[in-house]
Amino acid sequence: MKSAVVEGGAGSAPCAPSREADIGDKIYQLVKDIFPFCRSVAGEGVRETLRRLKQEIDLVIREVPSGTEVYDWTIPREWTVRDAFIRNASGDKVLDFRACNLHVLNHSAPIHARMPLRELRDHIFTLPDQPDRIPYRKSAYAQSWGFCMAHRQLMALPDGDYEAVIDSSLEDGSLSYGEYLHVGASDEEVLLSSHICHPSLANDNCSGLALLTLLARHLAGQRTRYSYRFIFAPGTIGALAWLARNEANTKRIRHGLVVSCVGDGGGPTYKKSRRGSAFIDRAAGHVLRHASPGSAILDFSPYGYDERQFCSPGFNLPVGLFQRSLFGTFLEYHTSADNLDFVQPEHLASSYSMIQAILCVIENNFTPVGTLLKGERQLGRHGLYVGGDGSPATQSANMAMLWTLNLADGNHTLLDIAERADMPFAELLSVARRLQAHGLLEP
Ligand code: ZN
Repeated sequence: MKSAVVEGGAGSAPCAPSREADIGDKIYQLVKDIFPFCRSVAGEGVRETLRRLKQEIDLVIREVPSGTEVYDWTIPREWTVRDAFIRNASGDKVLDFRACNLHVLNHSAPIHARMPLRELRDHIFTLPDQPDRIPYRKSAYAQSWGFCMAHRQLMALPDGDYEAVIDSSLEDGSLSYGEYLHVGASDEEVLLSSHICHPSLANDNCSGLALLTLLARHLAGQRTRYSYRFIFAPGTIGALAWLARNEANTKRIRHGLVVSCVGDGGGPTYKKSRRGSAFIDRAAGHVLRHASPGSAILDFSPYGYDERQFCSPGFNLPVGLFQRSLFGTFLEYHTSADNLDFVQPEHLASSYSMIQAILCVIENNFTPVGTLLKGERQLGRHGLYVGGDGSPATQSANMAMLWTLNLADGNHTLLDIAERADMPFAELLSVARRLQAHGLLEP
């Protein structure tokens, strides 16, 4: 994969590659740390996760009481699960929540009953097509109880009576979300959001949470043009709760990305905002096209992650979705195979660098103006001609200068020029800076 990241100057922090060469390992380590927590839409699992993220950045943890009305939704009760298992007549556990938290229907009501297998089966979810994997299922808004297990394991259970125990409670409390603001030169904001409601699934979405947390840490202390608002909230209801509390602030959002499933080797995939032609759509499309031949740029659809809320018609924010493999398209999606082997440091690192490259475009796009527009510049005279060896690298370096100078008429932004020249924005940015330094472009 071609890297589209260059050294940035002052005021362009997202362009400066992270000096941490092992950023992929660091993101992976954080994924590993938060993977075991039993998150749900509301409860201690989310808080434990937020507390871990708070060790990296100065995260503000906010609470919204159960029962609060949020547009057409109501904040649910908190879910606590202490233990869950199914025991056979001999007293052996044939399913144990302690081995894998996906074994319990997420947000399940409590149960303690003895029943025949044929009755219990109605409350057990499996994946017949992937018989060795445990599915992830949730029931946050309808009160029901259930277990999830590998289909093969269910098929192997002999008939008879079983003891089903889910020691859980659903009580009034609050929904928690985390918010972090990096203050830039302007109060115009870039919104970066990841959902935090899935239990032990590594790609969906420990990867997004960990990547954004370390990106926020990288930005801390750096000078940026925009302010950056990071939101870690339970899917749908958490994003809606944030929107309901921050309606006035949404006016400041100029660009945004929802980030999920960024640790697998697929894609990259970018789903456009509802507007379809927002600047973020152009910037992300540009970066992905140059980052990988396998990239997919999709039009907006009202299904997916929290871009659905940010792009609902009453907000219609310029927020797109960045992923590697598109949700729902990989076999590991919402199963026990979305584990710590499925996500890899190298993929986390390349996702991180692509997101940085998108932010680099947002931070640094400007309209260059040449200091002499009549006739082509004699590059050699200004010490800018890059040899004549005819190699692709020198040809490309010269073409980047020629394109930038030719279109620096005050009517084209640097992104316009990059698209017209079919060259990565970051390459043209370093060229434009050199041309400025040599007095060929206005400062
Ligand atoms: Zn999901």
